Order: sequence, then C-alpha cells, then structure tokens
Amino acid sequence: MAATGIVLGFHCTTPGMKHAKGPLLSIDVGDRTSETQDVSDVLESYVGGRAVGTKLAHDRIPFDADPLGAENRLYLATGPLQHSTMSFTGRMSATALSPLTDGLLSSNAGGFLSRNFTATGYGAVEVTGESDELLIVHVTDEEVTFEEVPELAGAETTDICSYIETEHGLENEHTVTIGPAGENLVRFASIMTSRERAFGRGGLGAVLGAKNVKAITFDGDSTHDVEIPPLQMDVHREAAQSDHIMKRQGTSSMTEFANTVEALPTRYFSELSFEGATGISGDRVEEKKYKKGTCSACAFACKLPTRDEETGLETEGPEYETVMAFGSNSGVDDIVDVMKSNKRCDELGMDTISAGDVVAAYLASEDAFGDVELIQETVEKIASREGIGDLLAEGVDRCHGELGVENWSVKGLEFSAHDGRTLNGQGLAFATANRGADHMYGEFYSLEYPLVEEDQAMDKEGLEGKPPKLVEKENLNAVKDSAVLCKFSRDFVSPERLSTLLDAEYEQLIEIGDEVVAMERHFNNRRGFDRSDDRLPYELPDFESALAEYYEVRGWNPDGTVPEERFEPSGATAD
Ligand code: SF4
Repeated sequence: MAATGIVLGFHCTTPGMKHAKGPLLSIDVGDRTSETQDVSDVLESYVGGRAVGTKLAHDRIPFDADPLGAENRLYLATGPLQHSTMSFTGRMSATALSPLTDGLLSSNAGGFLSRNFTATGYGAVEVTGESDELLIVHVTDEEVTFEEVPELAGAETTDICSYIETEHGLENEHTVTIGPAGENLVRFASIMTSRERAFGRGGLGAVLGAKNVKAITFDGDSTHDVEIPPLQMDVHREAAQSDHIMKRQGTSSMTEFANTVEALPTRYFSELSFEGATGISGDRVEEKKYKKGTCSACAFACKLPTRDEETGLETEGPEYETVMAFGSNSGVDDIVDVMKSNKRCDELGMDTISAGDVVAAYLASEDAFGDVELIQETVEKIASREGIGDLLAEGVDRCHGELGVENWSVKGLEFSAHDGRTLNGQGLAFATANRGADHMYGEFYSLEYPLVEEDQAMDKEGLEGKPPKLVEKENLNAVKDSAVLCKFSRDFVSPERLSTLLDAEYEQLIEIGDEVVAMERHFNNRRGFDRSDDRLPYELPDFESALAEYYEVRGWNPDGTVPEERFEPSGATAD
C-alpha cells in the first residue's frame, strides 16, 4: 500500500474564522462499525465542505487506491454557513477518488440535505470499506445503524426514496441515494439527494455502488454554536427582492445567449451554435415550469420543477448544461425530449453532462444526431451496462477509440458547455482544473461573457493576463465550496462580503483555497498526473505560455506538479 501524505506547515492564522464544527464520523461498511474522531484542528484550518473533505481524503486515502475498491473513502461535509438561514447556502460537498478521472475530486449538490446533515452534529462523515450485502446506512445524532436491503437492488431514485419515507418516515431531504447506474459502476454515476439534486460530476455514485451502499440517511437535532454575522440578512433580503432572470429560468437562461456568441457545443462539439436553440431555450423551460423550486433557506429559488401537460412528464430542469449535452450536442431541438433524458438520468442516477456527452459521442459514431428514440434507449443501456451501454458506461475518454470519435474530455471528465474555443479563458480553465473539463471549478466563463459589469469583464479572445485571474477564481471557488456557498451568489456575495461572513481576511481565505487546489494536485501527481494531463482537444493562442504562467503563479513546478517539499509522507493510512 502506498503511503498517504500530510500537508506541512499550513495553519489558519485567523482564530475567529467561522468553520464547521463537530467530530468526524468514520463509517466502515465492511465490518459495519463506526467511530468518531476529533478533527477540530482540520475544521479550524480548512473552514468545512470541500477543503475539509480534500484534506481528509488527501491524508487518509492511499495514493494507489482503487477508486472502486474498499480503500477509497467518500467524505460528505457541510460548512459554517449551513448554520445560518442565509440564501445560497442550501448546498454541501462530497469528496473521493473518482472512478472517472482517477484523481481526487469534489462534487457539490443543492437541495435540502445540508441542514439535515448538519443536524446530526458531525463536522464530516467518512464512508470506507466494502459491504458484502446491499445496505442503507442510517446516521442520527445518537447512533449509526446498518440495514440490509438486497430487495432494493436495481431500485431507481424515486423508489428508494419512497421506501425510506414509508419504512423510516424520512423524506427525500434526509437522504443520499444511488440508482442502478451506481450499482452497476457506471463511471459517471451520480449520488442523488432530495430526489432530483445530484452530486453529479466524477462518478461518486459508483464509489458508493462499489461499497454496496444504496443510501445513507441523516437525521438529528444537534446544534453547534456558529454565529454568522448579521450581513447574512442583507444577502437574504436582496436575494428575495431580486428580479434576476435565473429566478424564472435557472441556468437555462444561458442557452440562447451562449448560442448567439457561439459558445454552445453542438453535435458532439463539431459546431459552436445550434439552429434548433429556440426549441430548447430558457423560454421553453419557463413555459414548462409549474411551480417555484429552491434549495434549503434560499430565497433566490432558481430551481425548475417542470411538467409537460401533454405527456404528464414531470422533472426538475433541465439546467443549461443538460440542455447542451442532451439538446444541442445530441442534435435535439425539443425541450420535452431533453426533459425526458433529464428525468431518466435522475432516476437512474447518472450525471447528465457526462451521460449526454457520451450519448452524443455514440450518435456521432452512428451518424444519428437527433434520433431521440436511440438516445432514450442508449440512456437505459448505459445504466444497466447492456450491449453498447457497457462500453459507453466507461465514459468518453475510455470509449472514444472504439467508437472512432474524438476524445472530448479533460482528465477523463466530459466537457460541460461554455465552449473554450470561443471563451478562451474558460478553455484554459478546463485544462487546468484538477477535476477536468468542468465549468464550475474555475467558472472563468462568467468573466468572458459580455454580461459582466465592465470593470470586471475580460475579452473572450486570447489568454493574455488571464492566468493570475484564473488562479484567484479557482481559489475563491474552493473557498465557496468549503463555506459552503452556492456559486450563483456571485451578484450578492462579493469577496469582501464573504470575508465578513466568515470573519477572516480575504487573503487568508484565498490561501486556504490555494491549499485545497494544491492538495488535489499533489494527490493526483502521486497517481501520475502532470502537465501532459492539462490538455485540450483544440488549440488556443499562446496556450503553453499561459499554462507556464499559471504554474508559476501557483508556485508549482514547470511540469505541472506541486513541489514535493510542500508535503510530507506519513507512511501510514489513518485509522
Ligand atoms: S441559487 Fe439556486 S442552486 Fe443556489 S442555493 Fe439557491 S436555489 Fe439552490
């Protein structure tokens, strides 16, 4: 077994900084035991959420672990803001070694779980081992119990949620579940929560599937004393009063706009705009929206419960990224067809971006763009690994050769929208992100669309001057994922406000974000990742010099690795 590592010399120097509280609950589903461990030093230095999950994963998962093996560990964590009643805080973080990227990866989900998780009183929960029987793990503030549920093998999200509600009186807001895709180790299986919300990216559902864990429930009445400054009320009021278009259309409001500026991947990335964009636009989604949807405590309420009266189909969304993957990128121009794919992915437990892109890759190989029957059939086959689905369940990086199509992924993760060939800084962000081609890691697109206020906007063409800004964005996002604060708070929670809310200097927070990104990178370096993995399937002007500048700003080596002296091998796994 390879040694784990510990992070050297990184300690928060702001004693009053807000952070998550409570012990780590470590659950071994192999021998069905659990124990609590004091991790207050980690919480005090790393805020919560993604930073805490990353620190624990970095130090406790062996560097050579199999993502689908018993040694992999999944971390669930909330942050200090889940102790507030402020908008934009209905989210939480999950971290593990990804079966899709083969690197350390965090994913973030909204919904209502975060408050119920926090009420168990734990600062973080770790799941390790591998059960010999399909399990539901029940976590309360008093005990952990293990329930064998072999009869739920193959159950879809709604069915498993109904079971837990009927048998245990807990609504879906208390649960994380996996669908058949997770059980079948589809490499982009998601962990679902609150039924339609997903820890989507990176296949963390397959990590739970490999451990034979069908669901985990969280319930309790614990509270910790975490005082968030009164500024939270201003943020909440402003979110409630805002008339932002996202309150009507969610992220789908981006579709036509991205199409206009040629940043909407189309027909498996072969084009940048889609002639059928009107049929899958935010207006079409809004027409199908039948009530308000939100995450816990959030008055911004950007979620999209939708219904098609003609077919009776109900789902949540689709969000813009799903519209891209199962719409333009698959050559589909009817929002109801995208809603169907969205619904089935939620039920089967699959990331809609990766699933849609891999379906688009298959359509490219079959010259069958727009064939909605084939799309629906393929989605089902992927989740059950039946026929061609078995190959596609491996993801684009592993199956593109056999399909005879280009590899549209970075570090194994399929591309989200906001195309980097148009938004060049976002292209660089796709290349550098430790978790691969995901838009929310660096979120650079938000600076390059001509929607941004003039003093912050950057020209979408070229990379000059962008690496330092990208480093800052990645670091700031790592802090938001640790607080835990929704990225859509961007017009309401400025960096200065975040600093006030967490009672820490902005520079201190950015330093924590930098440490998170470095820990991810260091772990992945040990698994063989380096500069050669920070690659795109297209050329960008001055890409190599921008990459070199990015490493320099981060203080990394020119080969894209973190200097080894920043870390110290501990020589043993934690237990
Ligand atoms: S802004 Fe939207 S995604 Fe974010 S917490 Fe609020 S409802 Fe959830």
